[in-house]
Amino acid sequence: MKDTIVLYPALGSGHLMSMVELGKLIVTQHPSFSITILILTPPNKNTNNKDTTLSPQEHYIASVSATFPSISFHYIPPISLPTKLLTHFITFEIATQSNHHVDNILQSISKTTNLKAVILDFFTYSAYQIATKLEISTYFYYTSGAIALATFLYLPTLHQNAKKRIQDLHMPLRIPGLPKNFTTDDYPDELDSESDEFKILLESAKTMTKSVGIIVNTFDAIEGKALESLNKGLFVPNGTTPTIFSIGPLITSSYGGDENGCLRWLDLQPSKSVVLLSFGSMGRFSKAQLKEIALGLEKSEKRFLWIVRSELDSEELNLEDLLPEGFLERTKENGMVVRNWAPQGAILSHDSIGGFVTHCGWNSVLEAVCEGVPMVAWPLYAEQSLNKVILVEEMKVALELNKSKDGFVSGIELGDRIKELMDSYKGNEIRQMIFKTKISSKEARDQNGSSFVDLTKLIQLFKQKETTSSS
Ligand code: UDP
Repeated sequence: MKDTIVLYPALGSGHLMSMVELGKLIVTQHPSFSITILILTPPNKNTNNKDTTLSPQEHYIASVSATFPSISFHYIPPISLPTKLLTHFITFEIATQSNHHVDNILQSISKTTNLKAVILDFFTYSAYQIATKLEISTYFYYTSGAIALATFLYLPTLHQNAKKRIQDLHMPLRIPGLPKNFTTDDYPDELDSESDEFKILLESAKTMTKSVGIIVNTFDAIEGKALESLNKGLFVPNGTTPTIFSIGPLITSSYGGDENGCLRWLDLQPSKSVVLLSFGSMGRFSKAQLKEIALGLEKSEKRFLWIVRSELDSEELNLEDLLPEGFLERTKENGMVVRNWAPQGAILSHDSIGGFVTHCGWNSVLEAVCEGVPMVAWPLYAEQSLNKVILVEEMKVALELNKSKDGFVSGIELGDRIKELMDSYKGNEIRQMIFKTKISSKEARDQNGSSFVDLTKLIQLFKQKETTSSS
């Protein structure tokens, strides 16, 4: 019987893609394993849709299936759900409601293969109880970095010690491994410690500490101090920290097709001349903000490739409706604007790309690091403000963008920062710094590099039959 690992990612491209890449890494380095990936169905998915165009996710999964026969995908049936949770948290509820399916699937896989381990995302933590009941070793894969993981694992302690809501504490957190000036304000804005979502996050963080190990998508050279403190247990002072395996950077070279011809357009541009603007799978802007971005791009006079997603995303609205009048015509010589999605990984690896305005999603950050592309940091949601601090203050590979209190960025500010990144002495220092980081990211994955060593340890643990999760 083949040794099998089950991976159970969250909804959301960043989480799913990162987990699939982990599966690819495992079978590439250790072909004796087979991988089954459980895929949740988003609540609004129209299963009767006759449209045969593949979504970026379907495109990606199809290409992985074609290239890696030992990776299979198992679709969990849709569930109907009147949810009260905020959109970003829906996976928690869908995963909980899907536990009976997960139970059946795991039991059935156990009958035909040696099921060695289940790897969960923090969003799918509720399956921990199923895996434990079936006596399957359970791990977590944290698809963001070590500092974000550390602050997440520390949440229950912070909450227990706090006399008021976390967002009212405004308190420095001086734990070795966190950025120097880290305060409770660096936790995500949407973290309301009296909300239902917060209670679920606490539960998820506590569950993670019971697992056999936590895999994290980072590497020593960029987050060595945080990894050391995690391993010393400093973020779970009243409990146990599972073994931490830092196996990154894990990125994908391409997610989705290039229907808009971005790569062909980049082929025609000079080396390192184009600034990419891309804001993850959920970064949407108001019409007013889109107008300011357009103004900033014109002001910078730089070449650009802009992936536009709007809060008013309706198929009836085209780019001309969303952007300032005449913008597309005026910038057609040095700019390309595409709607909704483009293959960001492949774009960042193109020689014409010289800068990246990013929402600081961790996958985007790692993609830029691996390609040595300097950044302008524009965090939008989740742990991205924290990632910005890491990029700007710790790694020194990005410029910070000044935002108003409500998060609005003026065109003047954006234009100035883009020019600074592309033309100034400081921009050049950042470029040199990210080039060094690019080299260390490769070294981490080379034989005997820090991430290679951790992956080898992880695989050895998978192979030991007797490992089970503590309950
Ligand atoms: N991505 C892409 N094209 C887009 C937007 C995003 O290929 O138009 C990919 C991007 O390369 C990254 C992932 O989607 O791999 C987004 O993950 P990230 O952690 O950066 O942000 P999230 O979407 O999770 O906020």
